[in-house]
Amino acid sequence: MLQISSAAASHPGLRREKNEDACCVRQDLGLYLVADGMGGHAAGEIASRLAVEAVEAFIAESFALGIGGPWPLDYDPARGLTANRLQIAFRLANRKLRAAIAADGALRNMATTATGVLVGVDGVAVANVGDSRIYRWRAGALQQVTRDHSWVGEQVRAGVLTESAARHHPWRNVVTRALTGGEDPEIEMSDITPEAGDRMLLCSDGLSGVIAEDALREIVGRATDLATQCQALVDAANAAGGPDNITVVLLQFDVA
Ligand code: CA
Repeated sequence: MLQISSAAASHPGLRREKNEDACCVRQDLGLYLVADGMGGHAAGEIASRLAVEAVEAFIAESFALGIGGPWPLDYDPARGLTANRLQIAFRLANRKLRAAIAADGALRNMATTATGVLVGVDGVAVANVGDSRIYRWRAGALQQVTRDHSWVGEQVRAGVLTESAARHHPWRNVVTRALTGGEDPEIEMSDITPEAGDRMLLCSDGLSGVIAEDALREIVGRATDLATQCQALVDAANAAGGPDNITVVLLQFDVA
Protein backbone atom coordinates (compact mmCIF):
# COMPACT_ATOMS: atom_id res chain seq x y z
CA MET A 1 0.00 0.00 0.00
CA LEU A 2 1.36 3.38 -1.00
CA GLN A 3 0.59 6.65 0.65
CA ILE A 4 0.17 9.75 -1.44
CA SER A 5 1.19 13.31 -0.70
CA SER A 6 0.21 16.18 -2.96
CA ALA A 7 0.48 19.88 -3.65
CA ALA A 8 -0.92 22.27 -6.26
CA ALA A 9 -0.41 25.78 -7.58
CA SER A 10 -2.23 27.90 -10.13
CA HIS A 11 -1.29 31.31 -11.50
CA PRO A 12 -2.81 33.47 -14.27
CA GLY A 13 0.60 33.97 -15.88
CA LEU A 14 1.88 37.34 -17.02
CA ARG A 15 -0.24 38.06 -20.10
CA ARG A 16 -3.76 37.02 -19.17
CA GLU A 17 -6.03 38.90 -16.80
CA LYS A 18 -8.06 35.88 -15.77
CA ASN A 19 -7.23 32.37 -14.79
CA GLU A 20 -9.41 29.98 -16.79
CA ASP A 21 -7.70 26.90 -15.38
CA ALA A 22 -9.18 24.93 -12.51
CA CYS A 23 -7.83 22.10 -10.44
CA CYS A 24 -8.79 19.80 -7.63
CA VAL A 25 -6.76 17.98 -5.00
CA ARG A 26 -8.96 15.65 -2.95
CA GLN A 27 -6.76 13.42 -0.87
CA ASP A 28 -9.90 12.04 0.82
CA LEU A 29 -11.29 10.86 -2.54
CA GLY A 30 -7.95 10.00 -4.17
CA LEU A 31 -8.87 12.47 -6.92
CA TYR A 32 -6.54 14.93 -8.67
CA LEU A 33 -7.62 17.03 -11.66
CA VAL A 34 -6.49 19.84 -13.93
CA ALA A 35 -8.87 21.55 -16.39
CA ASP A 36 -8.10 24.36 -18.85
CA GLY A 37 -11.17 26.31 -19.91
CA MET A 38 -11.79 28.00 -23.24
CA GLY A 39 -14.45 30.43 -24.44
CA GLY A 40 -15.15 34.14 -24.57
CA HIS A 41 -15.83 36.44 -21.62
CA ALA A 42 -16.15 34.46 -18.39
CA ALA A 43 -17.10 31.23 -20.16
CA GLY A 44 -13.69 29.54 -20.01
CA GLU A 45 -13.54 29.96 -16.26
CA ILE A 46 -17.06 28.60 -15.93
CA ALA A 47 -16.35 25.58 -18.15
CA SER A 48 -13.27 24.43 -16.24
CA ARG A 49 -14.88 25.03 -12.86
CA LEU A 50 -18.12 23.22 -13.78
CA ALA A 51 -16.18 20.26 -15.13
CA VAL A 52 -14.01 19.95 -12.03
CA GLU A 53 -17.04 20.27 -9.75
CA ALA A 54 -19.00 17.67 -11.71
CA VAL A 55 -16.15 15.14 -11.66
CA GLU A 56 -15.54 15.75 -7.97
CA ALA A 57 -19.26 15.34 -7.18
CA PHE A 58 -19.60 12.02 -8.97
CA ILE A 59 -16.37 10.63 -7.53
CA ALA A 60 -17.71 11.47 -4.07
CA GLU A 61 -21.15 9.96 -4.87
CA SER A 62 -19.65 6.76 -6.29
CA PHE A 63 -17.16 6.33 -3.46
CA ALA A 64 -18.85 3.25 -2.01
CA LEU A 65 -20.30 1.78 -5.22
CA GLY A 66 -19.30 -1.68 -6.35
CA ILE A 67 -19.42 -3.03 -9.89
CA GLY A 68 -23.17 -3.55 -9.47
CA GLY A 69 -23.70 0.20 -9.24
CA PRO A 70 -26.22 1.69 -9.75
CA TRP A 71 -24.40 3.63 -12.50
CA PRO A 72 -25.96 6.66 -14.20
CA LEU A 73 -24.26 5.80 -17.52
CA ASP A 74 -23.04 2.57 -19.12
CA TYR A 75 -20.43 0.66 -17.14
CA ASP A 76 -17.60 -0.68 -19.31
CA PRO A 77 -16.95 -4.27 -18.19
CA ALA A 78 -13.58 -4.27 -19.97
CA ARG A 79 -12.28 -1.74 -17.42
CA GLY A 80 -11.94 -1.76 -13.66
CA LEU A 81 -14.16 -0.08 -11.12
CA THR A 82 -11.86 2.90 -10.59
CA ALA A 83 -11.49 3.55 -14.33
CA ASN A 84 -15.27 3.37 -14.75
CA ARG A 85 -15.88 5.83 -11.94
CA LEU A 86 -13.48 8.31 -13.52
CA GLN A 87 -14.73 7.81 -17.08
CA ILE A 88 -18.37 8.18 -16.08
CA ALA A 89 -17.48 11.29 -14.05
CA PHE A 90 -15.88 12.87 -17.14
CA ARG A 91 -18.93 12.03 -19.28
CA LEU A 92 -21.22 13.51 -16.64
CA ALA A 93 -19.05 16.65 -16.63
CA ASN A 94 -19.66 17.01 -20.36
CA ARG A 95 -23.40 16.73 -19.74
CA LYS A 96 -23.12 19.33 -17.01
CA LEU A 97 -21.65 21.73 -19.59
CA ARG A 98 -24.47 20.85 -21.99
CA ALA A 99 -27.07 21.76 -19.36
CA ALA A 100 -25.29 25.03 -18.52
CA ILE A 101 -25.14 25.99 -22.21
CA ALA A 102 -28.83 25.14 -22.67
CA ALA A 103 -29.67 27.40 -19.75
CA ASP A 104 -27.52 30.34 -20.90
CA GLY A 105 -26.81 30.92 -24.58
CA ALA A 106 -23.87 33.21 -23.75
CA LEU A 107 -21.96 30.07 -22.71
CA ARG A 108 -22.41 28.20 -26.01
CA ASN A 109 -18.77 28.35 -27.12
CA MET A 110 -17.29 27.28 -23.84
CA ALA A 111 -15.22 24.13 -23.51
CA THR A 112 -12.56 22.71 -21.29
CA THR A 113 -9.78 20.17 -21.28
CA ALA A 114 -9.74 17.78 -18.36
CA THR A 115 -7.09 15.43 -17.12
CA GLY A 116 -7.20 13.45 -13.93
CA VAL A 117 -5.91 10.70 -11.69
CA LEU A 118 -8.16 8.60 -9.47
CA VAL A 119 -6.71 6.31 -6.84
CA GLY A 120 -9.26 3.62 -6.07
CA VAL A 121 -9.72 0.20 -4.55
CA ASP A 122 -8.56 -1.68 -7.66
CA GLY A 123 -5.81 0.60 -8.92
CA VAL A 124 -4.97 4.02 -10.27
CA ALA A 125 -6.83 5.30 -13.33
CA VAL A 126 -5.93 8.19 -15.60
CA ALA A 127 -8.38 10.01 -17.86
CA ASN A 128 -7.69 12.69 -20.42
CA VAL A 129 -9.53 14.90 -22.90
CA GLY A 130 -7.61 17.75 -24.54
CA ASP A 131 -4.06 18.99 -24.20
CA SER A 132 -3.50 19.21 -20.47
CA ARG A 133 -0.94 16.61 -19.48
CA ILE A 134 0.00 14.01 -16.91
CA TYR A 135 3.59 12.93 -16.51
CA ARG A 136 5.08 10.20 -14.40
CA TRP A 137 8.48 10.86 -12.84
CA ARG A 138 10.30 7.68 -11.85
CA ALA A 139 13.93 7.42 -10.76
CA GLY A 140 14.96 10.57 -12.60
CA ALA A 141 13.05 9.90 -15.84
CA LEU A 142 9.95 11.82 -16.91
CA GLN A 143 7.37 10.14 -19.12
CA GLN A 144 4.15 11.63 -20.46
CA VAL A 145 1.28 9.32 -19.53
CA THR A 146 -1.47 11.11 -21.48
CA ARG A 147 -1.62 11.86 -25.21
CA ASP A 148 -2.34 15.42 -26.30
CA HIS A 149 -5.58 15.81 -28.22
CA SER A 150 -4.28 18.76 -30.16
CA TRP A 151 -3.30 19.55 -33.72
CA VAL A 152 0.39 19.86 -32.86
CA GLY A 153 0.17 16.67 -30.75
CA GLU A 154 -1.05 14.77 -33.82
CA GLN A 155 1.81 16.21 -35.88
CA VAL A 156 4.34 15.18 -33.23
CA ARG A 157 2.95 11.62 -33.17
CA ALA A 158 3.07 11.51 -36.97
CA GLY A 159 6.74 12.52 -36.84
CA VAL A 160 6.06 15.80 -38.68
CA LEU A 161 6.88 18.17 -35.80
CA THR A 162 9.36 17.90 -32.94
CA GLU A 163 8.19 18.61 -29.37
CA SER A 164 10.16 21.84 -29.46
CA ALA A 165 8.66 22.93 -32.80
CA ALA A 166 5.21 22.10 -31.40
CA ARG A 167 5.77 24.45 -28.45
CA HIS A 168 6.41 27.32 -30.87
CA HIS A 169 3.93 26.47 -33.63
CA PRO A 170 1.26 29.14 -34.36
CA TRP A 171 -1.44 26.45 -34.11
CA ARG A 172 -0.17 25.13 -30.77
CA ASN A 173 -3.45 26.11 -29.05
CA VAL A 174 -5.72 24.14 -31.39
CA VAL A 175 -7.33 21.41 -29.30
CA THR A 176 -8.94 18.52 -31.21
CA ARG A 177 -10.90 17.02 -28.35
CA ALA A 178 -12.42 18.67 -25.26
CA LEU A 179 -15.46 18.68 -23.02
CA THR A 180 -17.73 20.98 -25.06
CA GLY A 181 -21.20 20.04 -23.90
CA GLY A 182 -21.76 18.40 -27.29
CA GLU A 183 -21.77 14.69 -28.05
CA ASP A 184 -20.04 12.50 -25.50
CA PRO A 185 -16.34 12.93 -26.24
CA GLU A 186 -14.04 9.96 -26.41
CA ILE A 187 -12.19 9.98 -23.11
CA GLU A 188 -8.75 8.47 -23.21
CA MET A 189 -8.30 6.11 -20.30
CA SER A 190 -5.22 4.36 -19.01
CA ASP A 191 -4.26 2.46 -15.90
CA ILE A 192 -1.00 3.05 -14.09
CA THR A 193 0.83 1.11 -11.43
CA PRO A 194 2.71 3.53 -9.19
CA GLU A 195 5.82 2.45 -7.35
CA ALA A 196 7.26 3.88 -4.16
CA GLY A 197 9.21 7.02 -4.99
CA ASP A 198 7.15 7.85 -8.10
CA ARG A 199 5.86 11.35 -8.65
CA MET A 200 3.12 12.48 -10.96
CA LEU A 201 2.71 15.90 -12.50
CA LEU A 202 -0.63 17.12 -13.82
CA CYS A 203 -0.45 20.43 -15.67
CA SER A 204 -2.12 22.77 -18.12
CA ASP A 205 -0.38 23.82 -21.33
CA GLY A 206 0.62 27.09 -19.68
CA LEU A 207 3.40 24.93 -18.21
CA SER A 208 3.99 22.09 -20.69
CA GLY A 209 3.59 24.35 -23.72
CA VAL A 210 6.24 26.72 -22.39
CA ILE A 211 8.83 24.64 -20.53
CA ALA A 212 10.78 21.83 -22.18
CA GLU A 213 10.56 18.36 -20.66
CA ASP A 214 14.20 18.38 -19.57
CA ALA A 215 13.53 21.40 -17.39
CA LEU A 216 10.31 19.88 -16.04
CA ARG A 217 12.18 16.70 -15.17
CA GLU A 218 14.84 18.63 -13.30
CA ILE A 219 12.33 20.57 -11.19
CA VAL A 220 10.05 17.60 -10.48
CA GLY A 221 13.09 15.56 -9.42
CA ARG A 222 14.28 18.04 -6.83
CA ALA A 223 14.52 16.96 -3.21
CA THR A 224 12.49 19.94 -1.95
CA ASP A 225 8.91 19.56 -0.75
CA LEU A 226 6.09 19.29 -3.32
CA ALA A 227 4.68 22.77 -2.65
CA THR A 228 8.09 24.31 -3.33
CA GLN A 229 8.35 22.32 -6.56
CA CYS A 230 4.88 23.48 -7.66
CA GLN A 231 5.94 27.07 -7.08
CA ALA A 232 9.21 26.47 -8.97
CA LEU A 233 7.23 25.15 -11.95
CA VAL A 234 4.97 28.23 -11.95
CA ASP A 235 8.00 30.50 -11.59
CA ALA A 236 9.74 28.78 -14.52
CA ALA A 237 6.73 29.32 -16.80
CA ASN A 238 6.53 32.97 -15.75
CA ALA A 239 10.27 33.43 -16.21
CA ALA A 240 9.72 32.17 -19.78
CA GLY A 241 7.15 34.92 -20.36
CA GLY A 242 4.09 33.44 -18.65
CA PRO A 243 2.00 33.59 -21.85
CA ASP A 244 -0.87 31.51 -20.48
CA ASN A 245 -2.51 30.42 -17.23
CA ILE A 246 -0.35 27.91 -15.37
CA THR A 247 -1.72 25.11 -13.21
CA VAL A 248 0.23 22.26 -11.66
CA VAL A 249 -0.64 19.40 -9.34
CA LEU A 250 2.13 17.17 -8.00
CA LEU A 251 1.70 13.78 -6.35
CA GLN A 252 4.26 11.65 -4.63
CA PHE A 253 3.86 7.96 -3.82
CA ASP A 254 5.65 6.60 -0.77
CA VAL A 255 5.62 3.41 1.24
CA ALA A 256 2.95 3.84 3.90
CA1 CA B 1 -4.12 27.03 -21.51
